[in-house]
Amino acid sequence: MDWSPRTLAIVSGRPQGPGAPLNTPIVAASTFEAGGGVVYSRSDGTATWAALEDAVGALEGGQATAYASGVATLSAILDTLPVGSSVVVPTFSYALTRGVLKHAQQMGRLTVTELDPTDTAAWQAADADLLWLESPTNPTLDVMDIEAIASAARGRVVVDNTLATPLQQQPLRMGADIVVHSATKMIGGHSDLLLGIAVTNDEQIAQDLRNARTRVGATPGALEAYLALRGLRTMPVRLAEQERTAALLASRLAEHPSVTKVRYPGFGMMVSFETADAESAGKVCDSVELIRSATSLGGVETLVERRAWLPGEERVPPGLIRMSVGLEDPEDLWHDLHNALT
Ligand SMILES: *Cc1c(COP(=O)(O)O)cnc(C)c1O
Repeated sequence: MDWSPRTLAIVSGRPQGPGAPLNTPIVAASTFEAGGGVVYSRSDGTATWAALEDAVGALEGGQATAYASGVATLSAILDTLPVGSSVVVPTFSYALTRGVLKHAQQMGRLTVTELDPTDTAAWQAADADLLWLESPTNPTLDVMDIEAIASAARGRVVVDNTLATPLQQQPLRMGADIVVHSATKMIGGHSDLLLGIAVTNDEQIAQDLRNARTRVGATPGALEAYLALRGLRTMPVRLAEQERTAALLASRLAEHPSVTKVRYPGFGMMVSFETADAESAGKVCDSVELIRSATSLGGVETLVERRAWLPGEERVPPGLIRMSVGLEDPEDLWHDLHNALT
């Protein structure tokens, strides 16, 4: 029987057997007594990490490796590339993804090209060692044609699936080699941890990803791994509810006279909308009362951020506000947004 993702989120990554605890405990140990096959947590992992990795692996259809953060995951993956490798990244994508790649280019390690995420033909034509996709993109919420790009790719294909979650799309099943998550966001779901995950269905890549974690030392915390798995259990119901509210708010925002453009991909909990300029967008972020003005996304609380204020986000429209929709009452959220806009 192939369980549905909603069921997998509940049943995977649990100890089994008579007397087994239902939840894998927080294993707070760096080292283990000799002779048991497990030596040191950095290289061998812990049962707490493994439980989370089992669950995310089950949802994405591959073998998962957990890291200290989403950015640590990126750094570990880049560490597997020989010096001089070429990487392509979307023009609009997570700012620090582009920041880390730019730094690697400045240090003479990689050559980096940026491409419009919606120009599928350009991605298909790109002759690079690594195609780093992100879909939907953060913060412009462009949807990339993963299948078409992966089928034409000459190099390795990585997909940052943070905004979609494995419930909306499973890139490994669309031809990607590696899927990555900032589990800080929807998987954790409560804005209380930093953690990243990479998943692959290729045995050699899985081994490379493990070795890279050890080399880079990008290991997740025991408490963080426990909390991320606890968060993942409720991700399907959270996402369904957040998505319902996001769709409602997106359609109302589209009717509002102060809003010049709404970007909603038709699924998920993220809505980006534009006001006339930086000043009016800043005012909205300062005027919300229920909604919090803060960076990050995917938590139970609704957050707004004028994205262009960040270093590396200068090309984002100055009046663009990225909103991560949470679990508050939709009418309360609309009331707050409407007041802030008016
Ligand atoms: C937040 C985010 C990251 C970085 O993850 P951290 O856990 O904050 O290091 C990477 N990609 C996307 C799309 C993100 O939203």
